[in-house]
Amino acid sequence: AKNSGRNRSCYYTQAMQSVAQNRMSLSNDLHKALAQDQFRLVYQPIVELETGSIHKAEALIRWQHPNRGLVSPADFIPIAEQSGLIIQIGDWVFRQAANQVKHWRGAYGKDIQISINKSPVQFKSDSNTHLAWFEHLKELDLSGGCFAIEITESLLMDASDTIVSKLMAFGNIGMQVALDDFGTGYSSLSYLKKFDIDYIKIDQSFVRNLAPDSSDLALCEAMIMMAHKLGIKVIAEGVETSEQRDLLRTAGCDYGQGYLFSRPLSTEDFEGLVWNASLY
Ligand code: C2E
Ligand code: CA
Ligand code: CA
Ligand code: CA
Repeated sequence: AKNSGRNRSCYYTQAMQSVAQNRMSLSNDLHKALAQDQFRLVYQPIVELETGSIHKAEALIRWQHPNRGLVSPADFIPIAEQSGLIIQIGDWVFRQAANQVKHWRGAYGKDIQISINKSPVQFKSDSNTHLAWFEHLKELDLSGGCFAIEITESLLMDASDTIVSKLMAFGNIGMQVALDDFGTGYSSLSYLKKFDIDYIKIDQSFVRNLAPDSSDLALCEAMIMMAHKLGIKVIAEGVETSEQRDLLRTAGCDYGQGYLFSRPLSTEDFEGLVWNASLY
């Protein structure tokens, strides 16, 4: 028994070492990824549940690694946050999305509001990249309303003056603010009145097992009612079945996002979906 215990601890140490090595090599590769243009954005439609129309999409980053293939943002965003590289990556994401909105306006005469995920690290740094972004928008002749930023409750939990003033700066130029993964964090409802929040995004974990008479449905209904009383719109994440969609629509949910409607798409596929087809 002693022996096997020793083996086990040895096994764990090796496993931990290889996790650490893996992170280190990913971290090195991340630096090259920006310079070598290995990132791209995909766009997932956000569908108005009443009409099936699409005026919004969430931009999600993808990393095409030269050897590893596609690396999930869930795996590399935390590493980029630790190394601080998320600042430059976030800057790239914003500029890429802004150029895309500009292109779509020219090509189709229609504005799609793009939601961008912002890491708390971007807010907490003293960098003022957002001011450069506002300049970039001016140059492109785009209004702030073409964008929404998605933040999480953890950012608001310990919001310093810097964070509050950055959030206000986004609001002042007309960018909208969405609270992502709503219901999973500390969910202090006071955030909703303290900050200028335009949307809550009900987390997938509430949508996954939606059924008539389920407690998840009761929770969704309560979140929707509360948001609406405060003038906040609701987006449900992870909608995969028509039953989920129908329950959410009946509950008054404004928007849905999920594989039922579409996976995140390349720009070409997104254009095909939005301009050549109706979802209902
Ligand atoms: P998130 O912001 O909560 O994004 C939603 C995730 O759910 C996306 O995963 C999306 O592809 C996935 N999803 C969409 N519909 C469905 C569905 O019907 N069922 C299921 N099971 N999943 C669905 P993805 O693209 O892998 O992104 C994972 C996370 O990585 C995001 O979660 C976000 O936190 C982060 N992330 C992605 N892009 C960026 C970015 O540009 N910047 C930052 N800071 N974070 C990003
Ligand atoms: Ca998001
Ligand atoms: Ca606002
Ligand atoms: Ca989410």
